[in-house]
Amino acid sequence: MITEVFILQKVTLILGDGIGPEIAEAARRCVEAAGAAIEWDIQHAGSDIMETQGTPLPEATIRSIEQTGLALKAPITTPVGTGFRSINVHLRQHFDLFACLRPCKSYPGVRSRFNDIDLVVVRENTEDLYAGIEFEKDTDAAAELIDWINAHSDRRIRADSGISIKPISVANTERIVQFAFDYARKYGRRKVTSVHKANIMKHTDGLFLEVSRQVAQRNGDIEFEDRIVDNMCMQLIQKPELYDVLVLPNLYGDIVSDLCAGLIGGLGVAPGANIGAGKAIFEATHGSAPKYKGLNKVNPTALILSGMLLLRHLEMNREADRLEGAVAAVIAEGTSVTYDMKPRRDDPTAVGTREMADAIIAKM
Ligand code: NAD
Repeated sequence: MITEVFILQKVTLILGDGIGPEIAEAARRCVEAAGAAIEWDIQHAGSDIMETQGTPLPEATIRSIEQTGLALKAPITTPVGTGFRSINVHLRQHFDLFACLRPCKSYPGVRSRFNDIDLVVVRENTEDLYAGIEFEKDTDAAAELIDWINAHSDRRIRADSGISIKPISVANTERIVQFAFDYARKYGRRKVTSVHKANIMKHTDGLFLEVSRQVAQRNGDIEFEDRIVDNMCMQLIQKPELYDVLVLPNLYGDIVSDLCAGLIGGLGVAPGANIGAGKAIFEATHGSAPKYKGLNKVNPTALILSGMLLLRHLEMNREADRLEGAVAAVIAEGTSVTYDMKPRRDDPTAVGTREMADAIIAKM
């Protein structure tokens, strides 16, 4: 007798804080209803667990991601000024999640100025002006650096300046551009566009462009082109249909991914992922919206669609299609959707987070 053995894929589910636990629960239920054979390891991070365990990122959460290699993560608050530093940034650095992936796709029924958008933004996550190498105005280090630059450059930096450093390396550009090509190939996309400001920043963006071209030569089966970032922003508004997969250094990637989220109707529907070698964390683009905590009010779509990206990453394509189809159907009907998807924000027919998830599950 042949016995069929079912292997469950282990995935860490991080509940986060603010609206996190509510949307995490909605996303978990929807992913399960799609038929995905997933065993969740439920873990915590953020201000709620800080209150009970004295740390916003328990060792058990890190260990779980180390073991599973995969997480679906609800948003986590980053307190301004005092408090702990960003857990989101810490997780990206700890696991070297060098690629931030933001697929931006229109779903009929979402209120937006644009329709038929289907873009993928691949943002380098580890270097550029975002690397956090900064020198505060009026410190000894800033003064020393300014003196050195003034001695070695034909340009002058004023003494009352603060300085942020923009490193861009060959190795990290190679791996992000190769990631973009691999993604394009795996998901049947036709073109990769490298975005830069190489005409002005020749030794950083210029290097990004040069390495992009070298990587493109090794990936001749996918079309390649480049665009200067300001022109790219204008073209994304005027003719987004010309573009497919965009690969960008960290700072431009941050800005352009929000621009593209705007094209598809905003943060409530924008999923994402941070991916490294052998590890990936899937999460919504939006934050923890603390003012809505515990109100069963916010839109769970972005985290549910992040769950859909997780399923595609696992090549559970049948389940991913089922989940995406159900989300699209509920949005298109426009009945069982949260307040932000109604024509007026005070629409009394808006449903809660839980009820929108119920409606999605009912479509599968
Ligand atoms: P936010 O995205 O949490 O909320 C901004 C506004 O967007 C909210 O007030 C709400 O009106 C709306 N909104 C957000 N998510 C929504 C949803 N699912 N449904 C309906 N409306 C929604 O941005 P913020 O207020 O700037 O940030 C709050 C906290 O989240 C900050 O501490 C920030 O650092 C953190 N944050 C975390 C992540 C993450 O965990 N990856 C990402 C962004 C921000």
